Amino acid sequence: MYVDVHTHLTHEAFAADQSAVIERAILAGVSAIVVNGLDPVSNRQVLAMAERFSAVKPALGIYPVDAVCGLLPTDFPLKVEVFDVDAEIDFIASNAQAGRLAAIGECGLDGHWLAADTFAEQERVFGRLIDVAQTYDLPLIIHTRKLEQRAIDILRERKVKKVNFHCFGGRTKLAQVCAESDGWYFSIPANATVNEAFRKMLTTLPVERILTETDAPYLPPRKGERNEPANVVGTIDILAHQRGWSHEQAAKQVWSNYQDLFGKRWSL
Ligand SMILES: [Zn+2]
Repeated sequence: MYVDVHTHLTHEAFAADQSAVIERAILAGVSAIVVNGLDPVSNRQVLAMAERFSAVKPALGIYPVDAVCGLLPTDFPLKVEVFDVDAEIDFIASNAQAGRLAAIGECGLDGHWLAADTFAEQERVFGRLIDVAQTYDLPLIIHTRKLEQRAIDILRERKVKKVNFHCFGGRTKLAQVCAESDGWYFSIPANATVNEAFRKMLTTLPVERILTETDAPYLPPRKGERNEPANVVGTIDILAHQRGWSHEQAAKQVWSNYQDLFGKRWSL
């Protein structure tokens, strides 16, 4: 059994064949596809998708860029809808309370797209989402870009236990320390085929802290392709090769890690 803990099947790249993509993943043995929301529209789509497919495990969140939608300059390079961020956090909390969510995410801090004048508001929104995760004992799926250390400081200060860093771009050494001493998880994307840092993480992180993800449609294993959840199987091949394990042994380890972080209910 395989798991993709971070994917965006609500993306328009899947509009025409979303069901076929999910069926292909299930056929490949991917039993859990954690679809992550980013904003009000995708959060509602994630919930609807989870109603239709039992393999889809819903995570609702607010992407750091969307978290500061009201503060962006008019020439901001990405298209971002303005919405009531606090009302959306309340919506996420009510779904968490109803027991509908496998995780909170994607959420976190971004210093690549966003300037320093947004950092305080980013941290306020991140803090509220951490509150929701802690109140309902859910894992947090974290995006950080350039602000890895700050995100780590906040999570430590708040004593957050259930954490997965998705597509971690900070130093491998830093990931190592967090995995070893904080007990946090790191999901490795399918582009570990071409990314040296991710292959290094597959080789050196504590085995019980490794998860697989795709971030589909982004980060494909081969340049130019559209990524999809079935591609986590290739990451298991790399993990097995790096560690000198059988494919089955690697798959079993990652599935057991997923069970540990997400709990029985989302891994049956
Ligand atoms: Zn993502």
